[in-house]
Amino acid sequence: MRKDFLPFSIPTIEEEEIREVVDSLQSGWITTGPKVKKFEDEFKAYVDSPFAVPLSSATAGLHLALLAMGIGPGDEVITTPMTFAATVNVMIHVGATPVFADIEPGTLNIDVQAVRGKITERTKAIVPVHFAGLPCDLDAIFALAKEFNLQVLEDAAHAIGTEYKGKRIGSFDSVSVFSFHPIKNITTGEGGMVCTRDEKLAEEISLLKFHGMSREAWKRYSAQGTPNYDIVLPGFKYNMMDIQAALGIHQLRKLDRFIEQRTKIAEFYNAAFADVEEMITPAAAPYAYRHAWHLYTPLVRIEKLTIDRDAFMAELKKENIGSGLHFKAVHHHPYYRENLPVAPGELPQADYASDRILSLPLFPKMVMEDAVDVVAAVKNVLARTRK
Ligand SMILES: *Cc1c(COP(=O)(O)O)cnc(C)c1O
Repeated sequence: MRKDFLPFSIPTIEEEEIREVVDSLQSGWITTGPKVKKFEDEFKAYVDSPFAVPLSSATAGLHLALLAMGIGPGDEVITTPMTFAATVNVMIHVGATPVFADIEPGTLNIDVQAVRGKITERTKAIVPVHFAGLPCDLDAIFALAKEFNLQVLEDAAHAIGTEYKGKRIGSFDSVSVFSFHPIKNITTGEGGMVCTRDEKLAEEISLLKFHGMSREAWKRYSAQGTPNYDIVLPGFKYNMMDIQAALGIHQLRKLDRFIEQRTKIAEFYNAAFADVEEMITPAAAPYAYRHAWHLYTPLVRIEKLTIDRDAFMAELKKENIGSGLHFKAVHHHPYYRENLPVAPGELPQADYASDRILSLPLFPKMVMEDAVDVVAAVKNVLARTRK
């Protein structure tokens, strides 16, 4: 058995990031300032988006995007139940009604035909999630949105560096929101970014992110600015700090290298589990893409085992292998069970995946020997729990 515990994710923070944060701390400029602007510009260039708004989290980005898109009480928003609750919580925040469409069994991405079946007169938007870094079928989603005059908000928390048919997520004519939480493909500690081609929408989000203040603080206190300001609407406090952007600037430069390493490990897992009957490996999609491999999420066929998924994860831990849960389907959480009940059998694919999914260790600092240990641990647990 492996000697030291292998967590399911560790961020890769190197000397460049540390020096840049120290530089911010010593500069006297800690919060939103020139480094946030630099990170914004470099992120825009990377994803090929004309406008980007850096924020304190992706949750903040999803919240402000919905507000700027004009979504509120009486509106329905269709999304996937296989996502982090934040995707759906923000819909509640703005007073809209989340509507779940089922997922595709293989990719675990939202099923576009299922979305079609959920559209009503009140539907205003579709919120697809590029699950684990595999892009949803955006052409099909955009075609459906056009047919019914719906807006599209991409939850791209997993999809920094993902490409769909040769174009990066973030570059499409929609709104996309990225996350820089420590487990995501690059990190700023906490942080998020909204990308859009719509200048007005970007301006609205910029205004909402900092108290509804017409001018940003760092401009007010700089040599060019004046200290006066106007509050033009009751905004939020969702700005990104320079010490966060200091991390992001260097993380972004390493992203392609990170994805390469993630891809190697994920492909090794896919090959290792291909002929293991109890494991369902993540499926490929039938169009051109680059997978960002944010997560490696097989399903365990618990019907063939004497234990459930949670016990399976506990057994892996005994083998010194950490794992994650991304995700328990949102409609299985108590708040949603009570306030947004889904009829039994209405989301069969999500129910199936939710009870069987787990995230195996996947992060750029992993070496192949770590991946070998993970596969051995999974096989050990299967050997002692097989029916
Ligand atoms: C992580 C995550 C979020 C939230 O990101 P934060 O930056 O932590 O707010 C939203 N959606 C999905 C799918 C996520 O995985």
